[in-house]
This record gives sequence, structure tokens and C-alpha cells, in this order.
Amino acid sequence: MRRWNGWGDDTVDYPVPQGAHRWLEAQIGSATPPPDTPLHQIVQAVPDARIPARPLIQTDAETRLRHARGQSLPDWVALRAGRIGTFPDGVAFPQDEDDLAALFAFARRSGAALIPYGGGTSVVGHINPERDGPPSLTVDLSALSALESLDERSRLATFGAGVRGPHLEAALRAHGYMLGHFPQSFEYSTLGGWIATRSSGQQSLYYGRIEDLFAGGRMVTPAGALEMPPYPASAAGPDLRQLVLGSEGRMGFITRAMVRVSPLPEDEQFHGVFFKNWEQGVEAVRQMAQARLPLSMLRLSNGAETEATLTLAGHERLVDLAHRGLGLLGYRRPDKCMLLLGATGDPVTVRQAREGALDIARLRGGVHVGQMMGRKWRKSRFLTPYLRNSLWERGYAIDTLETIVPWSDVLPAAGAIIASIEQAAGTLDERVFAFAHLSHVYRSGASIYVTLIFRVQPDPDQTLALWAGMKRAASQTVVAHGGTISHQHGVGVDHAPYLEAEKGALGLDLIRQTARACDPDGIMNPGKLFGDRQVSLEQAAGVGGG
Ligand SMILES: Cc1cc2nc3c(=O)[nH]c(=O)nc-3n(C[C@H](O)[C@H](O)[C@H](O)COP(=O)(O)OP(=O)(O)OC[C@H]3O[C@@H](n4cnc5c(N)ncnc54)[C@H](O)[C@@H]3O)c2cc1C
Repeated sequence: MRRWNGWGDDTVDYPVPQGAHRWLEAQIGSATPPPDTPLHQIVQAVPDARIPARPLIQTDAETRLRHARGQSLPDWVALRAGRIGTFPDGVAFPQDEDDLAALFAFARRSGAALIPYGGGTSVVGHINPERDGPPSLTVDLSALSALESLDERSRLATFGAGVRGPHLEAALRAHGYMLGHFPQSFEYSTLGGWIATRSSGQQSLYYGRIEDLFAGGRMVTPAGALEMPPYPASAAGPDLRQLVLGSEGRMGFITRAMVRVSPLPEDEQFHGVFFKNWEQGVEAVRQMAQARLPLSMLRLSNGAETEATLTLAGHERLVDLAHRGLGLLGYRRPDKCMLLLGATGDPVTVRQAREGALDIARLRGGVHVGQMMGRKWRKSRFLTPYLRNSLWERGYAIDTLETIVPWSDVLPAAGAIIASIEQAAGTLDERVFAFAHLSHVYRSGASIYVTLIFRVQPDPDQTLALWAGMKRAASQTVVAHGGTISHQHGVGVDHAPYLEAEKGALGLDLIRQTARACDPDGIMNPGKLFGDRQVSLEQAAGVGGG
């Protein structure tokens, strides 16, 4: 069964290796997790629903609790501490568009807000009911999940938008195809959620981001249905798909999506390369991206992340041997950086991509260490989020944030973001272990993905205040560097205050007006994306009670 206050299936564990625990203690101090609030206690405290139960709508406390929060750090604190604050008043499980029409009518009559819910894996507060807002109904789209058609000649598949990653890939694989969209949340996130948040998968270099894969579909809104035929290309005015991508539930329900699929690849390899330092690695990766090699992944960790990845992987003796061997060649801790590069396709393409990339790596001082690191990464690519559970149970919280900047600013921006986070923690006399990798690369720039590990504080308000200080500092630094507030996680509530810096006043108004055209009464997911009122990080997170 899915964990209600953590990540993933409760039969799956990813324990923290002993050595990694000692190493973390050395980095940021020893930690004791505060006790979790048990499920039954929270269930008992769920307030009465403000809307009546109906055949389509469940109002029992546990269903409402299980849909109350996503996966952001404030969501974790709320769930673990039993301080959820606001619950949806009901959860609906529509089976088709007729049910959605009934839900629109119900919302109009009752004044309830509707929150589209895919897999609930949002990390920026997308699916949380608004605090002090109207009664809310979370609309779980999991029943809309069928493979409706597959046009093999056009390589287009049509799915119900509530389909989760593993089901989508299994349905395509049965016909010899795949989508290739692999966010780390693949296990639970859905096609509709990917589109609504402009998500990016780990092999976007080959398969494309979701906006490249989303060929067309249908969104039902309170004002009517929007059809988006899967034109291979069109010059007929603005592309409506671009409005739906990133709409974050503010315009309507994406019910169906046509996606561009690929035949299953004949070959796929992931190779490890080490560089003596981050600067050399970044330069090599820039050249690989700009050489337009047919690679499927370039993931370059900085020195601290390389250290963390190797330590958290366990296998202490093996890792120690690797450190010593690489050290003899001059690739030393703490500066050495690990690059994982992926090549996917037919054997000739894979060979060309691999050899082209390794040539560039060698010219930049990189050393190829074969496929072992890549195989290990591939095996645990969807398992590593389970570390969030085991680290929390040892008293450590993990959060991530990300942006993208042009190549000319990658090094300064990455350095400044990490420094801002460390400084913010320092003002509260805490240490944070922050590290980065380049996760998605393009010809003109690369996304910077930062992970922070810090101690869970004895009081949930302290944990939230520490997180909010670091998050605010990092977001302000991102904006100061002209980076986007999100390359892949979306806006939700946590990033909403920074959207105007990116879109400008007119741009933001265009987004608002578009949402209003689809949803004149403002019933769709209020408070998200452009925010309807100013809410601080602390208020959104619930610092200062409830
Ligand atoms: C461990 C972990 C790893 C992650 N890794 C990645 C990653 O590698 N890449 C990445 O891009 N993201 C990642 N994320 C973030 C998250 O998984 C994505 O934002 C994902 O796209 C959300 O999909 P979901 O189905 O869970 O949507 P939800 O969280 O349920 O909803 C997100 C937003 O989309 C709206 N929405 C959902 N479905 C629909 C629909 N059918 N119609 C209209 N609106 C809808 C909701 O209203 C909400 O505003 C990660 C999250 C976690 C917890």
C-alpha cells in the first residue's frame, strides 16, 4: 500500500547504509527524529466535511487525509507532525466526462473549489486545499487511465490522463513502443500531472520534455471543452497546447492526451566518467550538448554530490577502492565529479553517441570508468526517493530545488544558490549539506538541480522556518541570476511569488485572463500558479500553528 506520510510503497525500503549515517553526522551533526503522529490519531482529528456525501464523492476522514498533501518538504512536516491544517472536504473519483460535468454543476451550486489530482507527487504545494479557502473537492483522476488508441503509423498513443507512469509504459511495451518520460516520481505521477506541471524526465535529451511528447488532447473546463488535435505542426496562431502545459489545474481537467511514442530501443547504455573538478566537467558537458550528439542523458554531479552519491550507495569497500584508484590517477576528493551519460537507440547510434561523448570527455581531462556506475544508477533510478523515508527516520530531511540558466551562468549560479542556502541555514545556527548536479542539458544552457539535507528540528515550526529561510534565499538567488523559478517542478504555491519576475505584469495577466476564460467563477484549484492573494512561504507551509 502507498505510504500516507512518506514516499512510495510501504513494502519497499532503501535503508541508509551505516557508513553513510556516520558520514552525515560528520557533515551536519547527529540528529534525532521527532516522533510521528500515528494515522489513527490524525484520522480522528479530521474536521467534519463542509459538503454532503454524494454517490460520486467520498467524505470519509482517511480518504480525505490521503489526498490532503503532496510531497513537498512542508507536506512531509505536516503529515509527520499531524498538523495538516486544511483537508479537502471530499474526494471524487470520476469515471468519465459525464461525472466531471456533474462535479462542475455541484461546485457551482455549493461554492466548492475543485482540485484536479493526478498522483499527488507535487513538490510545491499544487494539490493542497487553500488555507481559509472555500470548501474543496479533490478530484482524483485515476480512473481515466486507459490506452484508448495507438496509431502505429503516426506513432501516436491516446491515453486517459490519469494514467500513471508504470501503467502507461507497460501498455505501450505490449505493442513494442514506449513514451520514455521518466521523472523520478515515475512510480506514482500521471500523464495529466506531467502536462499540467510541464514535467521533464531523466532521458529528456533523447525522448524530449513533456511538451515535446504531448501532441494533443482534451481539456474539459467549466466554460466548455477544449480540443487540441494532434497536428504534427501548425502555423494557425498561438499553440493552445502551450496554455494547457503548466496550467496546474487552474483551467480545467485534462481528460485525454495524445503522446508521441517511440519504438522500444534496441540498445541502451549508461557510462560513468570522472572529471578532476566541476569546472572541467561542466565544460565537457556543454561541448557534448552543443555537439548535438544523439545522447539520451547527461547528468553531471558536483564534487559534494559525487561524494554523497557514492557514500549513500553503500558498498563501502568497493567505493573505497574506487576512491583510492581514482586518487592515484589524480581524481581526488572532494573535487572530483561524476558524469553519467546515457546513449539510447540502435546499436550504431549508441556507439556514435558514446564515442563522440567520450572523445570530448577525454579532451577535457575525463576518465571513463565503464558501465558499472551507470548500471547501478539505472537499477535504483526510481528507488532513491525511498531514501527520503529512511533519512527522515534517522532525523534528516531532504529537499530539492531546480532552475535553468544559460551556459555562461551555470557555474556562478550554481555556486551562488548553494552559498545562499548555506548562509540561510547558518543564520539559524544550523548546518546544511547542499549539493548539485546538472540534470537536463540543452544547447543554450543546463538545469541546476540542488539537493539539501538538513536536520529535522525537534519542533515542526523550527523545521519549517529553517526550510523556508533556505528556500527563500535560493529562490531569490535564482531570480537574481535570471534563472527560471522552475525548470520542471512547476509553480504551485511555493514558487508563485516569483512568477511575476519571470513573466512580467502583462505576461502574468495573460495567464490569469486565460484561466478566467476557462473558469469564470474561479472554482479550479484556487491559490495555485499565479496565486490569488499574497501568501508567504511560512503561511503556505503552516508555520506558526496548524
Ligand atoms: C520523489 C519525487 C521526484 C520527482 N522527480 C521529478 C522529475 O524528475 N521531473 C519532474 O518533472 N518532476 C518531478 N517531481 C515532481 C512531480 O512528480 C511532477 O510535478 C509531476 O508532474 C506531478 O504529477 P502528478 O500526477 O503527481 O500530479 P499532482 O501532484 O497530482 O498534481 C500536480 C498539478 O497538476 C494538476 N493536475 C494533475 N492532473 C491533472 C489533470 N489531469 N488535469 C488538470 N490538472 C491536473 C494538479 O491540479 C496540480 O496542480 C518529483 C516529485 C517527487 C516527489
